[in-house]
Amino acid sequence: MSKHKTVVLNPRTEQVEFSGVPGAFAISFGLPILIIVLNQMIRPDYYITGFFKNFSLEEVFHRGDLRSFKDYLFNIKDTWFYYIVWFFALAILDIVLPGKTMNGVKLRDGTFLKYKINGIALSSLLIIVLAYRFKLTDGQMPELQYLYKHHLDVCIVSILFAFFLAVIVYVMSFIPLTFTKNGLGNRERILALGGNSKSVIYDWFIGRELNPRIGLLDIKLFCELRPGMLLWLLINLAALHKVWLETGKINNALILINLLQGFYIFDGVLNEEGCLTMMDITTDGFGFMLAFGDLSLVPFTYCLQARYLSCNVIELANWQLGLITATMCIGYYIFHSANQQKSDFRQGKLPHLKSIQTKRSTKLLCDGWWAKSQHINYLGDWLISLSWCLTTWNCTPLTYYYSLYFATLLLHRQTRDEHKCREKYGESWKEYEKQVPYKIIPYIY
Ligand code: NDP
Repeated sequence: MSKHKTVVLNPRTEQVEFSGVPGAFAISFGLPILIIVLNQMIRPDYYITGFFKNFSLEEVFHRGDLRSFKDYLFNIKDTWFYYIVWFFALAILDIVLPGKTMNGVKLRDGTFLKYKINGIALSSLLIIVLAYRFKLTDGQMPELQYLYKHHLDVCIVSILFAFFLAVIVYVMSFIPLTFTKNGLGNRERILALGGNSKSVIYDWFIGRELNPRIGLLDIKLFCELRPGMLLWLLINLAALHKVWLETGKINNALILINLLQGFYIFDGVLNEEGCLTMMDITTDGFGFMLAFGDLSLVPFTYCLQARYLSCNVIELANWQLGLITATMCIGYYIFHSANQQKSDFRQGKLPHLKSIQTKRSTKLLCDGWWAKSQHINYLGDWLISLSWCLTTWNCTPLTYYYSLYFATLLLHRQTRDEHKCREKYGESWKEYEKQVPYKIIPYIY
């Protein structure tokens, strides 16, 4: 294959995000510390109340169950063992469980990757295993008790695991394809357009290879939907289980957060084909940012409300339950129907809707949900996040961290997407912006 074609397949990244290497450093150290601190502020023996009125640095850093770095690396062998078994068992199930095969989006070399969609089989198996274990252990579920008790250990192991996984996929990205060839007929891997800067730290952080795979396992889609999301489900269940074991009862706020988040998790796992067109899968490389986000940030920050409600047991009034459920339902309705409408439109199922023809053969929908704002789906998703935070009502603003973080994430995503679409669609995007002026919240932003 000529050198010219190699360069075209993987052009050098000229523009970096997050301020390049300094930003990559800051996020790689800062975010892990942040999630450790957040979790240290919500534990059975110490949790924040009110507006941080009992906040104590000593509690957060010294008197909790924090160990030395060496201990985390070498001396908590049982936690490492369970985590690795969890990760690889799910990976094996991902490969062997039955499901339909679907094509991903068209890649730069003109080929399509095949993805196995077996979320239904996996979810059913998980439910059966949990029910069986509950019966077998007379409701004791030692695995859930372990997870609750060693919450911080598992969190830190997941961060270290994400670090090593990012190193492995970074190294793999330099190894030529062994058993297959790319669409250009050579063995070069397809790199992410944003992850080929030649700076080791930046590329390791942002993700060098677009779709790292080991055999049949697509590491990026797997991490996005399995080990982190399902661990989040188990952490929530472990919180519910702990209160039930201790008191023989379960508070309604804790049940509600388990139901709302359980629904969201299963919805994500069951509708996994929707992920195939998401920016993370189509555009981003898989590096520390995604590995850490999927394996650590999601399970160990999205669980904060359930953890909090297991330490500070509160009961909500019926009107509060109703309000929270309504917020979730409205958010989910907007999120789901807007995403569905765009997907149906892109598949040619809604030809009557108003749209703008772009030079790139695709059309930009500017009707229905997509006339209200450029990312109306983000608004729905954010309302969902708010409903989860509301389950802790006015106990502390700490548990509202998630809505705040998610708003920042969605704003950043919107700016990235806008930049991408401006470059990609040029004049058509300008016309689209004229017709749909609001970015996320109609009439406000
Ligand atoms: P979008 O679903 O908004 O997709 C943006 C892409 O869709 C654009 O790049 C463009 O791609 C295409 N597009 C944009 N506008 C139009 C239009 N008017 N008509 C047709 N196509 C259009 O964003 P994401 O992929 O970021 O998010 C998908 C979902 O995932 C969202 O609902 C989001 O809230 C959710 N999400 C959830 C997260 C979580 O942690 N819970 C994290 C991140 C996202 P093209 O190049 O194909 O034209």
